Amino acid sequence: METSAAARRLATRFVAGETLDDALAVSRRLNQEKITVTLDHLGESVSTLGEAAEARDVYLRTVEAIHNSQIQGNVSLKLTQFGLDFSYEQCLANVDQLAARAAECDEFVRVDMESSEYVDRTLQLVKDLHQKHGNVGIVIQAYLHRSKKDVEDMCARRIRVRLCKGAYLEPATVAFPDKQDVDRNYVELMKILLDRGLYPAIATHDEKMIAATKEYVAARNISRDAFEFQMLYGIRRDLQRQLVSGGYRLRLYVPFGRAWYPYYMRRLAERPANVLFILRNLLRS
Ligand SMILES: Cc1cc2nc3c(=O)[nH]c(=O)nc-3n(C[C@H](O)[C@H](O)[C@H](O)COP(=O)(O)OP(=O)(O)OC[C@H]3O[C@@H](n4cnc5c(N)ncnc54)[C@H](O)[C@@H]3O)c2cc1C
Repeated sequence: METSAAARRLATRFVAGETLDDALAVSRRLNQEKITVTLDHLGESVSTLGEAAEARDVYLRTVEAIHNSQIQGNVSLKLTQFGLDFSYEQCLANVDQLAARAAECDEFVRVDMESSEYVDRTLQLVKDLHQKHGNVGIVIQAYLHRSKKDVEDMCARRIRVRLCKGAYLEPATVAFPDKQDVDRNYVELMKILLDRGLYPAIATHDEKMIAATKEYVAARNISRDAFEFQMLYGIRRDLQRQLVSGGYRLRLYVPFGRAWYPYYMRRLAERPANVLFILRNLLRS
């Protein structure tokens, strides 16, 4: 699939393209629409520390390119791509190098959250590098039972949090199995972050979560510059436009890279309607 031209064309709905230049071109277009970006280089599963170092180098080039082309954006990365499965120390050294370069460029680095087995190590690494460089943030998943405590800890340490629902299949011992409990927890954590967090990111495509956030900031008189909404590139573009025209800050998570196929399939799997969209396009072409 990754080498098929037709499949690549369809994937551009959710993925900026295979190269850094593709990602920069999409970023420029989004910036013109008053949308900021966070660039993600696809390729979670590295199989050696050498590959992790290559991923780090791609991110170093990305941070420099964002800086040099004056794009309103930052980067998001996954620790497994930086070698966490092989060595915590080496992974820390890789992200440290990136955060140091990003700090020189006055840029921010977001560390995505992966499945629950990685949460403690991810929090530890972000706390250490935030203390050292001041420009590293985290993601907290509302589906985890533990997240309220983690949100409070991040607020106390002035570490920027992106709040999302959580994307991995987790057992009921660690995560709420029912959507309504996840949503209830999401709203509770959103309020804590807006009250006490540092420039939180409310990452969701759920209209109810977005409405609850808008209502809360209006009721508490919280400035629209004190937080941002985040969504995935290509998903709910109608909602994205509404937020921007309503005067809210919006950042899109823009993936790029040659390993786009697993990411693309995950986005399709989340919504049967996406598969219909693809089929309609295939029939048209
Ligand atoms: C910027 C950003 C960063 C993220 N980072 C992480 C991370 O680091 N770790 C992590 O575990 N998860 C991450 N996620 C994913 C997140 O945890 C959810 O799995 C995902 O956002 C779907 O949840 P939702 O809040 O949109 O609500 P849902 O209840 O899942 O969906 C609400 C509505 O959103 C729309 N929607 C959702 N997904 C799609 C789709 N694929 N296609 C079309 N419509 C869709 C539909 O209208 C749906 O009814 C991130 C999400 C975003 C937006």
